[in-house]
Amino acid sequence: MKFIQYQIGDIVQMKKKHPCGSDTWEVIQLGSDMRVKCCGCGRIVLIPRPKFLKGTKKVLNRDVEHDRPDIVARSEESTLGD
Ligand SMILES: [Zn+2]
Repeated sequence: MKFIQYQIGDIVQMKKKHPCGSDTWEVIQLGSDMRVKCCGCGRIVLIPRPKFLKGTKKVLNRDVEHDRPDIVARSEESTLGD
């Protein structure tokens, strides 16, 4: 199991979306409860650490051990329909 040491200022992606539609959160306080701010609407919520750790998908501002970088090709999908 990989353990990520979270830091204040980390941008994390959560499995659960906020009602505003954003699933990214900025860590603003560490502890037994994590205080995070929604990147979409700026709302600040307190999440118990175990729930936070389970709910995070990845840390976006740090590429932790990405042995295969995802190179996103410039897509040419200019039209979705006329
Ligand atoms: Zn939000």
